[in-house]
Amino acid sequence: MQTYDLLVIGAGPGGYVCAIKGAQLGLKTAIVEKDAYLGGTCLNVGCIPSKSLLHSTEMYAFLRHHAADHGIQSENPSINLAGLMKKKDSVVVSLRKGVQGLIRKNKIELIKGKGRLVGQGGVEVKNQATTELVKARHIVIATGSKPVELPFLPFDGKQIISSDQAIALNKVPERLTVVGGGAIGLELGSVWSRLGSQVTLVEFLPRIAAGFDIGITQAATRIFKRQGLRIETETKVKGIENTKTGAFLIAEQKGKTLQFEAGTVLVAVGRKPNTEGLGLESLGIELNSRGHILTNDGFQTNVDGIYAIGDVTTGPMLAHKAEEEGVALAHKLANRYGHVDYRLIPNVIYTDPEIASVGFTEAEAKEAGYTFKTGQFSLAANGRALASGAGEGLVKIIADATTDRLLGVHIIAKSASELIASAVAHMQYGGSAEDLGMTVHAHPTLSESLKEAALDVHKAAIHC
Ligand code: FAD
Ligand code: NAD
Repeated sequence: MQTYDLLVIGAGPGGYVCAIKGAQLGLKTAIVEKDAYLGGTCLNVGCIPSKSLLHSTEMYAFLRHHAADHGIQSENPSINLAGLMKKKDSVVVSLRKGVQGLIRKNKIELIKGKGRLVGQGGVEVKNQATTELVKARHIVIATGSKPVELPFLPFDGKQIISSDQAIALNKVPERLTVVGGGAIGLELGSVWSRLGSQVTLVEFLPRIAAGFDIGITQAATRIFKRQGLRIETETKVKGIENTKTGAFLIAEQKGKTLQFEAGTVLVAVGRKPNTEGLGLESLGIELNSRGHILTNDGFQTNVDGIYAIGDVTTGPMLAHKAEEEGVALAHKLANRYGHVDYRLIPNVIYTDPEIASVGFTEAEAKEAGYTFKTGQFSLAANGRALASGAGEGLVKIIADATTDRLLGVHIIAKSASELIASAVAHMQYGGSAEDLGMTVHAHPTLSESLKEAALDVHKAAIHC
């Protein structure tokens, strides 16, 4: 029987990154993975395949709707769906090989099979051929999450699907109803809408992308509706009725019954932690009411030597959050300093334009008792944005009225996912709106809109 310093269960971005950092810091490390491939949800059915589809379809939408504005003639561009999926698959395969190589290079033992905790310090790993008991001083649960199912819309993988199938359809559905106006709904709804599907988003809250600042989501709603998405907010789905003439989604909107042809239904109402069959009950590991493993700020569960990171524990279900937790935990286990600043985890939706934010929204800053000032800048006044056909969008900055420290930065713009990084860096170093406003930004760049929004906090912007 092998004994390790560190045994990680789950090879998603939380788990494999934790294992690599642990091995780099000198811990004898093993990783257990039940699936055929490394990389978890993010690499195999999440972040990466969805971004490949988003990029390909964005280019297609550009050719169809905007190329002529740039003097480019591209009459009747068409899509070869199999080719689009092939590109996506090739990206995934290439990155899988990369992760496999990193595991090898860092001399991490890869144990294939499903892991289950069996007493403190022990994990039973079972695959089709063998059952093995592995021992470790530190065990990290990084088993991730899976799609939430609605009881009245159970997944059948054909008519009622999750994102796992929505990234791999072999035909463009004539109609796609997406239940949930969050990250998956907006990203995959955009993909299939660009490919010609009539997409309806059904969201039970008063607005889509509800975690983002209201100014940003109002702009997003206007833009996405113009792009052809039908958006029904404050709408509660009740079920689906299959009739001779087709399937109809039944929902309730402000006391009225709404019924419309459903087509394929993508349920994207969140994800839930993967804890089934892990043996948590036998050790008495505590969960919250939504099934997430509870930990202290050192990622430790209530059982000594057992830790949890990533989607399986509390906090935003994001790959970079999982990775940061993996790195911080590995440092702690190697007796070094490890910490994640949860205020500074950026959140992005990769639509066109993209939505990105970090820190407090205006409503959150108010609720937390801050007095603050805001600055705003429209991309319509940014030269690079206009030259790139990306004049739609805005940047909004929230700064403490007394200290001028940045409290939140919110962007809807092309490449917002890249722009947000400098906002995170300014906030990481305690930067103020004045600091950001005085930072030299290259011209002409989209990033100048961040500088202008920061200047606008003190009503000192140049171009608005
Ligand atoms: P996971 O990636 O879920 O990995 C867990 C691993 O554990 C899996 O490989 C699983 O097979 C394995 N496992 C589970 N149980 C066991 C067991 N008992 N024994 C052995 N192995 C086990 N996040 C972003 O930050 N950016 C994005 O753009 C983004 N896009 C997304 C798009 C989609 C469509 C989806 C579904 C998600 C997206 N996410 C995105 C979320 C992101 O994928 C997750 O937050 C991230 O994968 C969580 O990482 P993790 O390591 O905690 O878990
Ligand atoms: P989400 O939490 O982002 O959005 C779910 C949405 O569904 C919410 O707006 C919620 O109000 C709504 N909803 C819930 N129940 C509903 C119901 N019965 N009827 C109508 N609407 C309902 O979840 P998601 O979009 O499923 O994504 C799952 C996870 O994956 C998220 O945590 C997300 O952060 C992550 N993810 C991230 C990215 C990214 O970072 N770009 C992309 C995709 C997924």
